[in-house]
Amino acid sequence: MNLNRYDRQERVKVIGKAGQQKLNSATVLIAGVGALGSYTASQLLRAGVKQLILIDPDVVSTTNLQRQALFTEQDVADGTFKVDAAKAHLLAIDHTAKINVYPEPLNESHLTDLTFDLVLDCLDNFRTRDLINKVALKHGFDYIFASCAGTFGSVMPVSPTEHACLNCLYPNLEDLKQTDCDLIGVNTALVPLVSGLQVSLALHYLVDKASVNFAQLTTIDNWQLSFQNFKINKDPACPVCSKRDWDLPKMESTEQVTVLCGTQTYSVQMSRSPKLAQLNQWLTDQAIPYRQFKSFSTFIWAGYSVSLFKTGKCLLYGIPTLKEATATYQKLKQAFQPVITEEATSL
Ligand SMILES: [Zn+2]
Repeated sequence: MNLNRYDRQERVKVIGKAGQQKLNSATVLIAGVGALGSYTASQLLRAGVKQLILIDPDVVSTTNLQRQALFTEQDVADGTFKVDAAKAHLLAIDHTAKINVYPEPLNESHLTDLTFDLVLDCLDNFRTRDLINKVALKHGFDYIFASCAGTFGSVMPVSPTEHACLNCLYPNLEDLKQTDCDLIGVNTALVPLVSGLQVSLALHYLVDKASVNFAQLTTIDNWQLSFQNFKINKDPACPVCSKRDWDLPKMESTEQVTVLCGTQTYSVQMSRSPKLAQLNQWLTDQAIPYRQFKSFSTFIWAGYSVSLFKTGKCLLYGIPTLKEATATYQKLKQAFQPVITEEATSL
């Protein structure tokens, strides 16, 4: 007896055996593995998209559990990176999946150096969305925008070289980039609905890109149960996709501690930072245990988890206020002084 895992989906006319094969061989990059990203990753994998790239700098915290699938209290207790926790839970769904994880903030090189068929925007801030939009325009790839706020969700497939870009959809994108943190909150039940729409578009794209409607924004209100489609045209005066009058966004200024949206994680770009080998030696000398990853090391400092990347980016996790995060960072910087030998490479 041939037990075909995808039998029920191959029976769906618009997918069939040929479509399923396309899904099985596709690679999808998921930017942000929070509420949307965790649902989206698990649905995609169950649907047979076996190659996933997960990018998110954050660790799992208690306030995530209200809306983020895949994560557990044990992940919080272990201080696990979201991408690592997601990978472990996804491999429990399908042990043959190939999941590459990047526990770091999304940057241009992820979008230019990695190979993928589609990017899914599962982010929670417009600064990084602006980066995806512009890199997609520059390098000619497509992505699916999705957002959740309160009880209101939006989804749109974006192919910015030919169709409307994110700036055509939000002409006030520059202002949105300044409103860094979403204080509206997110209703638990909204997330799987928006993720379901995003994954529907992703599967449609991977099976039959030619029939995807890139001029359609879909919105949903999960309190009123209302669902609307809007036609979004490319704006001939759009400074981003039509006039191309922009530089790639600089993600943050040096030495300024900023909170990552909706988290207790803080990010700062150091102007001067130790090389990873020097940092690790210093941590060893101080008897501070650490874990080394390809591009960063993580350790506990003054009771808080800290990651230092070779780019000089520093992330501090689980700190209640910006004031305390800034003070903790200043002390850490002082402690680093003996091991700093050269300028950090700017992002
Ligand atoms: Zn545009």
